[in-house]
Amino acid sequence: MSTSFELRETDGAARRGKLSTAHGMINTPAFMPVGTAGTVKGMHPDSVALTGAQIILGNTYHLMLRPGAERVAELGGLHRFMNWPGPILTDSGGFQVMSLAGLRTINEEGVVFKSHIDGSKHQLTPERAMDIQRLLDATITMVLDECTPFPATEQEAEDSMMRSMRWAERCKQAFVQRPGYGLFGIVQGSVYPKLRQRSVTSLATIGFDGYAVGGLAVGEGQPAMFEVLEATVPHLPKDRPRYLMGVGRPDDIVGAVRRGIDMFDCVMPTRSGRTGQAFIRGGTLNIRNAVHAASDRPLDETCRCPACRGYSRGYLHHLFKANEMLGPMLLTWHNLQHYQDLMAELRQGIEAGRFEEVARRWEAPATEAEDPG
Ligand SMILES: [Zn+2]
Repeated sequence: MSTSFELRETDGAARRGKLSTAHGMINTPAFMPVGTAGTVKGMHPDSVALTGAQIILGNTYHLMLRPGAERVAELGGLHRFMNWPGPILTDSGGFQVMSLAGLRTINEEGVVFKSHIDGSKHQLTPERAMDIQRLLDATITMVLDECTPFPATEQEAEDSMMRSMRWAERCKQAFVQRPGYGLFGIVQGSVYPKLRQRSVTSLATIGFDGYAVGGLAVGEGQPAMFEVLEATVPHLPKDRPRYLMGVGRPDDIVGAVRRGIDMFDCVMPTRSGRTGQAFIRGGTLNIRNAVHAASDRPLDETCRCPACRGYSRGYLHHLFKANEMLGPMLLTWHNLQHYQDLMAELRQGIEAGRFEEVARRWEAPATEAEDPG
């Protein structure tokens, strides 16, 4: 009735699967480009699809404030509104209430906050979060959780996680089941393995269509993040997709797939693209650097995206120096292509039983791979 997940191959803990939804099928491991305010910034929806993306993420916080969930529903739901017919996962809004909204108070009922746009007052409860995501017509709805600040003591992390579990139960009660639509729970518990495992048990008892690992990529660093995954992922139900929220760099993704994660989202490829940072094989480069001004090379010889097929680094450098909008558009396209190429190769690697071989190619050191001239 809801979304269905088929686990097709494994290689070590890495998993190759297919997630079927009301709006189409998603090959996993999958990366979801972020469409914050009803658009993947600078990208036409057809172009997003051309990179190989099969699902995108929408932000409940932004859409509930502007244009409002009821308005999106009146205009046919988010798929119709933004002309993306494929699957959409929406977050619950909780993370951005904590990071963007002004003056917020949180209690057992939910969270009251002021809009960062106009200062208007809003309430987000587990029930309202389900209502908003239903109005948006989200293919995959996320439970409202409390984002545990980092760092947190074990007691703070436990209190926060337990509240998130009570909210998860309320979300499950309020979620309206529809064929091909899913509701994902979110594991919390900060960096404490015992809390993470208790959170998994609570969520699995309630029962969800997928399980997200939340509260990571908040400053704990990659080694701590991987440790949390190792303490968490093996306990998650094997027959449901696992989603690592807000992660990350290509080497974060490779390491998380190695530990059994199936889905990812991150603003990094789009945000970096707008500021001139390109992800290429072997690292990153900043196209604004003077070293690229006279370069006739493409961004990445191995990439088939329009930025790499049609333009030199020198031209892209010029676009950024001249503040031409085509520059951010091309770099965004390239970065999204880079991430989708990564996911496609990881999937092929798992299918062929050669995951580690593929992983090594993508686990580049985090250094600038600058063109020396
Ligand atoms: Zn490219």
